[in-house]
Amino acid sequence: MRFSAPKGSYDVLPPESAAFLAVRDALSRPAILAGYEYIETPIFEDTALFARGVGESTDVVSKEMYTFEDKGGRSLTLRPEGTAGVMRAVIEHKLHAGQLPVKLWYAGPNFRYERPQHGRYRHFTQVGAEAIGVDAPMLDAEVVALAWDGYRALGLREFRLLLTSLGDSTCRPPYRALLQSFLNRLELDADTRRRVELNPLRVLDDKRPEVQAELEGAPVMVDHLCRDCAEHYDGVRTRLADVGVQWEEAPQLVRGLDYYMRTTFEFVHSGLGSQSAIGGGGRYDGLSAAIGGPELTGIGWALGVDRTLLAMRAEDIALPTRSRVQVYGVPLGAAAAERLFVLVASLRAAGVSADLAYGGRGLKGAMKAADRSGAAYAVVLGDRDIEAGAAALKDLRSGEQIAVPLDALVATIQELLS
Ligand code: AMP
Repeated sequence: MRFSAPKGSYDVLPPESAAFLAVRDALSRPAILAGYEYIETPIFEDTALFARGVGESTDVVSKEMYTFEDKGGRSLTLRPEGTAGVMRAVIEHKLHAGQLPVKLWYAGPNFRYERPQHGRYRHFTQVGAEAIGVDAPMLDAEVVALAWDGYRALGLREFRLLLTSLGDSTCRPPYRALLQSFLNRLELDADTRRRVELNPLRVLDDKRPEVQAELEGAPVMVDHLCRDCAEHYDGVRTRLADVGVQWEEAPQLVRGLDYYMRTTFEFVHSGLGSQSAIGGGGRYDGLSAAIGGPELTGIGWALGVDRTLLAMRAEDIALPTRSRVQVYGVPLGAAAAERLFVLVASLRAAGVSADLAYGGRGLKGAMKAADRSGAAYAVVLGDRDIEAGAAALKDLRSGEQIAVPLDALVATIQELLS
């Protein structure tokens, strides 16, 4: 029997895995620079956390969850997104009792049973950031700007930031009713009519052109914001402009998770075809209460690592690579291998990355491995050199070679690399 990775999943393999890590690090770095601290939550949670937190009427909850019963009879779900679990952890451990906002970042896999296609997987990786417990437009602007900075740091240019406000519990219910009465006048299929009852805002997000044609002239939330929400939204935009972030008004933007309110945004990239969203997020002031916590505001985002990599490819940005090691040991004989084994350990202890050819490969094979490792230097040592007490240190770029006493190798290499 031969196995392959399950449908919709993939392996992150070297050497491209170096780019994967570099993207993950670049996307989280702006948050780290802004004082966000790392959090890790379980990959599975109580199913009810997502049902209540993300929303029963969303596709994510109603169609896409990996839900299973464990041996203790509990219903668990592989996390389809990160915010609900982070909020659960904040409430459970009362992180909000300390300094506010609670600023957290995380990275890891998420699972959604979606129809796999280019850029859409069942197992995908996100970097996330959340700022919890303070409701200030300036904080919204910080959060959005951190994502912007991450993409820019990777060299991406062909992305757009779509921004809107989804209102709050004062102005959304009357807007929702207004939208429902507009939608009820349209010719819609039974499924869509059901959605009009459950979650009319999601109908605006329908991708089918015939539905979009019907939606022309539909009322949009931003035209019906209450005073507080309108002021809040103005504040966010002013602060974003202050730090040079450019956005487009996207009054039709509705996102796939129910908990968003007020500031809501998505980053889209022009080189990705239909799965164009490389990241998104928003304010989720109702989430904490929805999962049994105190009234606690929050804003955050999740950025797709996989799609960000695809976007970099689409823009022909050289993907970050990394030499595997700086120094590679080439032993000619068993005694030399034993000696180099100790030498690479000393190099690593001195902070120099080092490897050696294992398995008695002979000069030619070992030199090839040295080249492939990306090392700057090879240390070539034969059994007979041990008696002489010196190894050949070869500069793999220039090909130059010098003899270096064995006990001076670590210091010499350190000096050459500095
Ligand atoms: P969401 O949690 O749906 O707001 O997604 C945030 C970001 O995660 C999206 O903008 C995508 O970049 C990424 N993402 C979401 N779902 C998938 C998926 N099925 N496959 C790959 N990336 C995804």
